[in-house]
Amino acid sequence: MSVAGSTSLRLGLIGDPVAHSISPALQNAGLVALGLPPSYTLWPTPSAELEERIASLRAPDVLGANVTVPHKLAVMAYLDEVTPLAQQAGAVNTIVHRGGHLVGDNTDVPGFVAGLLVTGLDMANRAALILGAGGAARAVALALSEMGLEQITIANRTPERAQALRDALAPLSLRLIPSDPQALGAALPQITLLVNATAAGWLPGEAPLPLALLDLLPADGLVVDLTYRDTDLLAAARERRLATLDGLPMLIHQGARAFELWTGRRAPVAVMREAALAARAART
Ligand code: NDP
Repeated sequence: MSVAGSTSLRLGLIGDPVAHSISPALQNAGLVALGLPPSYTLWPTPSAELEERIASLRAPDVLGANVTVPHKLAVMAYLDEVTPLAQQAGAVNTIVHRGGHLVGDNTDVPGFVAGLLVTGLDMANRAALILGAGGAARAVALALSEMGLEQITIANRTPERAQALRDALAPLSLRLIPSDPQALGAALPQITLLVNATAAGWLPGEAPLPLALLDLLPADGLVVDLTYRDTDLLAAARERRLATLDGLPMLIHQGARAFELWTGRRAPVAVMREAALAARAART
């Protein structure tokens, strides 16, 4: 289906829950800027309804969908094709519909890369420590290795999950360390890129590691939190004059990449960023 001159097209976010998402604001601003109808809506989908939801995407007016927690892996079973990147990432966050054919892709990986580049900082030769071993940590590990970083360490609360991530991404050479303060403290003096890819830290008073440990990071360290708001971790890093980046650039760029896959048009990133900032301000 060509999007030019379309008055009816549908896009949406499949997940459970989805009510908190700012993707509709981001995507609809992009659609409107290109003269298309604001057609991106929330499609809350419990697991028992996932198969039916995916079947509904084959309707002629559906361009595709985003997929979020908890369906990024399970959705693969209902698609006609899964790109090699999504297979490697173990997650589909974007589905593209072309003439009854559903392709699962992953835009979190290029979204993270594009988000990092927003900092303008040199990423070459950085030594990374990723906190977490879930889907986001896996996307970050893939992205960093694609950028040529050779020293990537993972620390996760549940060590078996970190081990599983390393196995899934072999032959990438990932180092694993325990997530206790002592092991983190020993590693941090060599780390120049710290990424929080855990679900911990959204709430004030919550952090993925004891914040005093940030004293151990080198002065040129960059602290990234995938949470798309200002967190205690980022505030503590700024207090120490470290460079910081929150999760909003990643969210914007994964969305922009998905937009381009669906529409075949260049995403109006500046407009989408403004809409995302406004939606975030309204939420927090
Ligand atoms: P998963 O559920 O797959 O993984 C959650 C991770 O967080 C696991 O490593 C888990 O450890 C860890 N964790 C959860 N609670 C705690 C805690 N209290 N202390 C320490 N570790 C904890 O989630 P995702 O990987 O999909 O998402 C992780 C985060 O990244 C979320 O906040 C999500 O919003 C964000 N994200 C942001 C994106 C963006 O575009 N900015 C894109 C994707 C995700 P364990 O294995 O021990 O349970």
